[in-house]
Amino acid sequence: MTICRQGKGKRMISFKDVSKHYPNGTTAVDHLSLELPEGGITVLVGSSGCGKTTTLRMVNRMVEPSSGTVSVDGRDVLEADAAELRRGIGYVIQQAGLFPHRTILDNIATVPLLLGWGRRKARARAAELLELVGLPADSGKRYPHQLSGGQQQRVGVARALAADPPVLLMDEPFGAVDPVVRTQLQNELLRLQGELRKTVVFVTHDIDEAVRLGDRIAVFRTGGHLVQCAPPPNCWPPPPTTSWRASWAPNAD
Ligand code: ADP
Repeated sequence: MTICRQGKGKRMISFKDVSKHYPNGTTAVDHLSLELPEGGITVLVGSSGCGKTTTLRMVNRMVEPSSGTVSVDGRDVLEADAAELRRGIGYVIQQAGLFPHRTILDNIATVPLLLGWGRRKARARAAELLELVGLPADSGKRYPHQLSGGQQQRVGVARALAADPPVLLMDEPFGAVDPVVRTQLQNELLRLQGELRKTVVFVTHDIDEAVRLGDRIAVFRTGGHLVQCAPPPNCWPPPPTTSWRASWAPNAD
């Protein structure tokens, strides 16, 4: 079991000896212990199928652990109401996952409306977020298919931030855009994070992206093992003796 304890601040997310086994016999995550402090970006990195997404989804209880405890802000996620838990955790996925028949403003206002903010306040907040993520005000009236892939990803980030959640989960959010736009989106995320100081968990299989964005990098290897968790200078390049180097296949995806 690898334990990773980073930073001195309050623990925001904690995995205690967490495993996830699927009914078909796959062990997606194996005895994971990891503590993430409030604020900062933790990147989960590793080749395809090594348990990154499963780990991420256990934070907002989209996947429930087979054993062990996942806590957010000191509370076991299994004891929380799942819908309430998810409204307090922003979630960004590849290709944004926007509602195609809702305008951009309405997409961004989704969670505030669910929280009962009232239409006017929710739309005002959505307009504020459009600006925050660098989109022109008039894009709020458009529909997702009228925006580029990169713009849609910005909307996805805005939607996740709408209710100002302390935690933001990002699953390969920039994986489907071209390299130039990807770099712009990475810069935007770093700029936003400088202002907002969320606790971000970011999944990628791209080590360059991990090093660029991460305050700390958790390296996984096949079988759902956490091999190492450290700030980028200590984590990359890896010492030649680390066991994951042999199994690491950066081009496997
Ligand atoms: P990653 O995000 O690193 O690509 P995942 O967490 O998606 O990896 O998957 C880890 C392992 O669990 C993989 O072998 C995958 O095939 C398996 N897996 C994921 N979801 C399921 C499921 N619902 N049922 C069975 N196996 C699954």
